[in-house]
Amino acid sequence: MLEIKNYVRVQSLAEAYELCQNRSNVIIGGMLWLKMQNRSVDTAIDLCDLNLNHIEDKGDEIHIGAMVSLRELELNSILDQYTYGAMKESVHNIVGVQFRNLATVGGSLFGRYGFSDVLTMFMALDAYVELYHGGIVSIQEFATMRPIPDVLIRVIIKKRPQRVVYMSQRNTKTDFPVLTCAVSQMNSSYTCTIGARPLKAITFADENHLLDESLSDESILNFANDIAQKLVLGSNLRASADYRRRIAKVLIKRALTALREGNHHAY
Ligand SMILES: Cc1cc2nc3c(=O)[nH]c(=O)nc-3n(C[C@H](O)[C@H](O)[C@H](O)COP(=O)(O)OP(=O)(O)OC[C@H]3O[C@@H](n4cnc5c(N)ncnc54)[C@H](O)[C@@H]3O)c2cc1C
Repeated sequence: MLEIKNYVRVQSLAEAYELCQNRSNVIIGGMLWLKMQNRSVDTAIDLCDLNLNHIEDKGDEIHIGAMVSLRELELNSILDQYTYGAMKESVHNIVGVQFRNLATVGGSLFGRYGFSDVLTMFMALDAYVELYHGGIVSIQEFATMRPIPDVLIRVIIKKRPQRVVYMSQRNTKTDFPVLTCAVSQMNSSYTCTIGARPLKAITFADENHLLDESLSDESILNFANDIAQKLVLGSNLRASADYRRRIAKVLIKRALTALREGNHHAY
């Protein structure tokens, strides 16, 4: 059971940062992950008065506050248009609507969970996170950083010509994913992000230039085989590493085919 002794609605980011330096205190988002833990917390730090629950189009960037809910990610029209529905696809299988109304972007990213659909999606968008102390860091770097206490303020998506397709494989609809896969084309280069390996998501560039000429059936298959071969995968109660490798090939192939055909809602 989670036991909380004090609750503070902080009035500034500085106050939140200072409080979270004490390892007995904890920042709370939707508290959905935290409440599963067996621990005692001195002070729960609530950011809900800091106006971080907005998604804003800033012209060449989209800013997503840490307290934005996963449901808002799913329904927001700016994100829907920019990601061709991929953002919605990445979160709509997470448990249920009431759950997604509470779970936050900050809580979903700060834990850098291996199973995370949200981390996979933001990595595919080559997003940035803004930390109170750590400043603005690319999400690729953030994903591998040692978790040190800081306040995640917002996610920043730098707009550029891009297309993205998101897919996941689940044993049952609302379970944790067996594998997540997002392919994107930014300017003229392609990347493929695979998560729930069950290790943390990782992004691959097309290092062997397999997709340079065209997205033909053959080049897509070669790329899918190339990535599936490079992938470090593990086994857990949801799937074996071998099964994940087979699924990876299929998802990459399907996602790139959907990208080629502009059929972003093919899943
Ligand atoms: C049963 C269950 C099933 C799930 N299934 C999936 C799934 O299929 N796919 C998926 O992607 N996710 C899944 N999740 C994860 C979920 O979507 C959320 O990511 C998770 O609940 C954390 O979000 P939260 O807002 O509840 O964070 P909390 O539980 O409040 O916090 C989580 C951690 O983040 C820290 N934190 C929160 N906000 C900040 C901040 N702004 N700055 C710094 N640190 C912060 C907290 O201190 C804590 O350590 C699941 C979770 C549960 C409990």
